[in-house]
Amino acid sequence: AKSAGRNQYCFYQSSSGQQSDQELRLEQALRTALQQRQLQVAYQPKVALAEDRLVGFEALVRWHDPQLGQISPVNFIPLAEKLGLISQLGAQVLELVCMDIRQGGLAEVPVSVNISTSQLSESDFFHRTCHILNQHGVSAQRIELELTESCLIPEHAEETLVLLTRLRQVGFKLSIDDFGTGYSSLSYLRRLPIDTLKIDRSFIDELPDNREAGQIASAVIAMAKALNLEVVAEGIENTAQYDYLLSAGCQVGQGYFYCPPLSARDPALKNFIGRHC
Ligand code: C2E
Ligand code: CA
Ligand code: CA
Ligand code: CA
Repeated sequence: AKSAGRNQYCFYQSSSGQQSDQELRLEQALRTALQQRQLQVAYQPKVALAEDRLVGFEALVRWHDPQLGQISPVNFIPLAEKLGLISQLGAQVLELVCMDIRQGGLAEVPVSVNISTSQLSESDFFHRTCHILNQHGVSAQRIELELTESCLIPEHAEETLVLLTRLRQVGFKLSIDDFGTGYSSLSYLRRLPIDTLKIDRSFIDELPDNREAGQIASAVIAMAKALNLEVVAEGIENTAQYDYLLSAGCQVGQGYFYCPPLSARDPALKNFIGRHC
């Protein structure tokens, strides 16, 4: 491990295949973070492109370890999955989201929460999730669950379909994240009780100059329309990307172009909400 700019903790896999000291340290630090509830959540606004209006937030977990500094979820989410800690982590994130909703700092719009595949496959996912909302007095209508295409693996297609149907029946919105990077079949997608497709950032990154990325983005937008789903573009960073997506018929976007993920208590977030309601 090495400390990079801006106090970011980088995590390198040891080449020997053995667990390195750094990996063990990170594991111990993660266990402590969960025990002591050190995790936090940042919120990134989702905006209706044509009207420039706030339509939701995505909740993104944040972890600052006293010794190791800021650690990216790209590094610790896979570790939490590997250690069997992802359900505990997910529950803490959902609790923080519910508390922030109750504090009233997030306007009245839905908040999207990322769900790992291994979390969704836990047998008590449905009850645990509903329980947290009940405890905090938050309605399921306020929460959207962002699932990745890997949640939709064909071996568990029927079970997944049953679970997603139950979640939607109690009011959760459902979204497929990073769409276009996996292999979900169109016929399966058509049967799923989902509301939203999110076009993966890797395609948005290359707009508007890369023809292929543009065609993929346009195809996902057209398909979402055909299936009567909302489509969200993530990682919009500049006007050229915004213009492309708007004219391709994309309804909603998020990205640094609008706003980075911010704490619910950050005045900059309140300011953004004030300007986009
Ligand atoms: P994701 O769900 O695809 O989230 C989008 C990532 O893109 C976030 O990174 C966000 O901060 C970043 N981002 C937003 N706008 C821009 C932009 O304009 N440009 C660029 N380059 N990046 C942008 P983050 O917060 O580091 O999260 C990384 C991944 O970690 C997420 O990818 C998600 O898969 C996972 N993750 C984050 N929070 C949670 C969580 O609470 N639970 C679970 N299971 N996974 C989470
Ligand atoms: Ca996401
Ligand atoms: Ca995504
Ligand atoms: Ca992604």
